[in-house]
Amino acid sequence: MSENVLFQELNGSLLEEKGIQLIIKREDLFFPEIPGNKWRKLKYNLEYAKNEEFTRILSFGGAYSNHIAALARAGALYRITTIGIIRGEQASSLNPTLKTAAENGMQLHFVNRTLYRKYTQGQELLSIQQQYPDAYVIPEGGTNQLALQGCEEIVNDIPEPYDYICCPAGTGGTVSGIICGLASSKKVLAFSALKGDFLKSEINQFVQERAQTNYTNYELITAYHFGGYAKYKESLLDFIKSFYQDYNIPLDPVYTGKMMYGIFDMIAQDYFKPGSKIIAVHTGGLQGIAGFNERFGTDLPQ
Ligand SMILES: *Cc1c(COP(=O)(O)O)cnc(C)c1O
Repeated sequence: MSENVLFQELNGSLLEEKGIQLIIKREDLFFPEIPGNKWRKLKYNLEYAKNEEFTRILSFGGAYSNHIAALARAGALYRITTIGIIRGEQASSLNPTLKTAAENGMQLHFVNRTLYRKYTQGQELLSIQQQYPDAYVIPEGGTNQLALQGCEEIVNDIPEPYDYICCPAGTGGTVSGIICGLASSKKVLAFSALKGDFLKSEINQFVQERAQTNYTNYELITAYHFGGYAKYKESLLDFIKSFYQDYNIPLDPVYTGKMMYGIFDMIAQDYFKPGSKIIAVHTGGLQGIAGFNERFGTDLPQ
């Protein structure tokens, strides 16, 4: 795929008026089989699992999880069995995310929310490992140190010069990898998809562990969560639809839509100096739109 497809400059009256250059890095098109940041996060984990001769990979996620979708696809491509521990009771029919995961050969195990929390927050992690002794266990959301290593590579091919790089954050793993990859150059803006600012210390920890130092050239933006994880407001849906009309680029409502909304809002509020050049990372997540539309009766473009 040629470079000009992976980097798309946006034009518009606000950008022109404020003297801002805004370029989208289309990670959602980078590796079409497993689009978005979840491939970056899985890449070295898959390599590790193969090298260590694990026969199965196990991970965790909600019923609409992009990570679960990506892992299932990776399992099919790399011929390794995958097990998805899914939060919540099994519905009478599988939603589009889980249906595709099952078609990709993933074994789905549904656990109630209490047990899920115990598994993912550590207390019962050992019992999962005992139940599946031959499985390589990847944390919820796919974030571990090998994921950071993969996400460092997101910055490798960005044409210089530029000033800012923007990325949505869930667990903070992807943006932590970007921060490590930049090694204190540029300014990184992490747009939290969740309410609260606890991600700041998580990111600090991930970065410290990987880089053995603390980089301070980043800011956690917490004003665009729209009520919390996977919550939305009409204004967000309207933005995603008009963005699609203007640029023919689909955004997901959980991560990339909130980030792009935030970037435009911050441009309008003069957060960026005139002449700034911003790279916004489109981390994918488009597989989740079908399930979102089905669940909420919305009509977001896919
Ligand atoms: C998972 C995901 C994120 C968040 O990545 P983290 O590494 O958990 O912060 C961002 N965007 C999309 C589209 C995702 O699927």
